[in-house]
Amino acid sequence: MAKYGLVLCAIISIVGGSREKEAIQWVKDYSLLTDDAMHTWNTVNWNYQTNITKENEQAATEQRGRISSFLAQVNENASHFDDVIFTDNITKRVFHFLRRNTGKGIVDSSIIRRMGELRYKMMRQTNSARIRRLNCTSEVDCELDRIGYRDAMGEVKEPEELKYMWEKMMDAAAKPNLEIYPEFIDLKNKVAQSSGFNNRAEDLLFYYDDEDFEEQCLVLWKEVLPLYQKLQNFVRHHLKQVYSEVEFPDSGHIPVHLLGGSMGAFWQHLYKDIEPFSNKSRVSFGDELLAKNYTSKGIYKQAESFFVSLGYDPLPAQFWEDSMFEKPIDGREVICGASAWDFGKNGESRIKHCGTVTEMTFNTAHHELGHIYYFKAYAELPHRLRQGANPGFHEAIGDCISLSTETSHYLHHVHLVDKPTNDEGQTFPQNTLKTGDVHLFPSEADVNFLLRQALYKLAIMPFSLLVDTWRYSVYRGETLPHEYNKNWWNLRCKIQGVSPPSPRSSSDFDPAELSHISSDTPYLRYFVSLILQFQFHEALCQEAGHQGPLYTCDIYQSKEAGAKLWSLMELGASKPWSEALQMIAGTRKMNAQPVLEYFKPLSDWLDAQNFPRVTWDEECPDGSFTSGAERTYLYHLPLLVCVRIIMVTLSLD
Ligand SMILES: [Zn+2]
Repeated sequence: MAKYGLVLCAIISIVGGSREKEAIQWVKDYSLLTDDAMHTWNTVNWNYQTNITKENEQAATEQRGRISSFLAQVNENASHFDDVIFTDNITKRVFHFLRRNTGKGIVDSSIIRRMGELRYKMMRQTNSARIRRLNCTSEVDCELDRIGYRDAMGEVKEPEELKYMWEKMMDAAAKPNLEIYPEFIDLKNKVAQSSGFNNRAEDLLFYYDDEDFEEQCLVLWKEVLPLYQKLQNFVRHHLKQVYSEVEFPDSGHIPVHLLGGSMGAFWQHLYKDIEPFSNKSRVSFGDELLAKNYTSKGIYKQAESFFVSLGYDPLPAQFWEDSMFEKPIDGREVICGASAWDFGKNGESRIKHCGTVTEMTFNTAHHELGHIYYFKAYAELPHRLRQGANPGFHEAIGDCISLSTETSHYLHHVHLVDKPTNDEGQTFPQNTLKTGDVHLFPSEADVNFLLRQALYKLAIMPFSLLVDTWRYSVYRGETLPHEYNKNWWNLRCKIQGVSPPSPRSSSDFDPAELSHISSDTPYLRYFVSLILQFQFHEALCQEAGHQGPLYTCDIYQSKEAGAKLWSLMELGASKPWSEALQMIAGTRKMNAQPVLEYFKPLSDWLDAQNFPRVTWDEECPDGSFTSGAERTYLYHLPLLVCVRIIMVTLSLD
């Protein structure tokens, strides 16, 4: 009997083995086909984003429909191998992603097409919004486009004008999308359901490979929260002095229009108003970039040299010829937000960025090249595994590099600042840091530097968490259209400690001012990246043999650190992210300690300052919402969406 059992096992093994070989060959074939399809899609999409015309939008909408159908068909075909138990780890991982489709069928192409139309319409409405400045009488310079608005919110210091611009931009860029968004969400959920998910939120969370991933993020945020509270308090205290004529709410919130940006997410524009020690900062090197005749492309070249110093190849001529580094001056309308593109074939990649010669572009260039080198590192993997270990990994690479390139030591090395500032200024003996036998004192310049970094990296953390907290609740049906705006502000008040400058209503749609909402780009990845980039930085600094506080480390020219980072990137998504993280950071868990360690001197300094400590209320200040100005269509919205879906399904339009 046992003998027959052995023979049977051998037969199953042979059959299983041949089926696996068949599957391996199928993965190779489909990968080549997908490369072609993605190259075509990226080309059409690139043409649209770098030249927004009706024709290009139409072409992109159609091509998006084709690529979606193609990818759905691939998933469907993959289900033919559902019976195979894989021994080859790479193939097993490919099917882990492909088997997301549980065979409920391919979604109707008219739904895909309609979804594309809505998405492009929302993007167009947000991207093309224009407002006029308050009391502007000049014939020129009165109109602000999106970039002009963002810059003006960072420069203007008149609170009434800031409030006016903020309200006008919400009306122009965000509010119009309220009529579209419920239908868009419904279609997104339908597509997710066709892949076996309950809703689109589940679909997005699939890439984090962990059922309690949202919970993990909340735990991490609780660890960072005390540090953020100190920053929020410090900023609020100083803004009350800068805007003494503004009545701040007693609830402890900061009115969002005073935070120096369009969404009140990044606070770096506030730095010059609240700098702790004047004349002790490293000089801004924006002027130096101009004086040295840098162009935006030249800044990208400089950024490339950092990656080359880690032992990586220079980028090919194709990249430099095909990328868009500046806003075109030939009248083309383009989508300006910086992005890195993997064209999916022959290692072709590009940057699209309306770069200017500023420090901001210097930062962005390192961020975007982080994506480009990630593309290169995993280029040999089958198509489905060419992605970050999880979406946050992809965002973290370039930002981790920026933690090195922002140090005055590195900037001095590349002749952008005169000399390192770490040893300038007075010291704070009470804040002595001990690193092995080395005793270091954070100087005034260090405190300035860390505050600047905190306004950039720490201020965005709660925002990067709450955007998808809100969006997931919409996908899950927990936030209905008439609650969109109120729940958005409930989260912003509770998590971020900011409040609206004037009463908002359910006929407003403030989250849609964020381009990631109108373009349906996930946002949780940025929160994950903010945690991971400090973990990576700490691990790479150790590899580079750095001694001293984490915030002074740069890994420039460390081939050892470069090799470690490359070994993470070349994995792509071929292993679960926890394994990839263990390889670089020695732990399978995301960990907030490196963030706290990096900002420890600033945290200590804030503790020693004398300003009121306020814990903001969880609820928004009284008067933040009005029930007036409801649009009657909102009451009929569910019905309208329903009718619309039926029309799309039946292809009646
Ligand atoms: Zn990015």
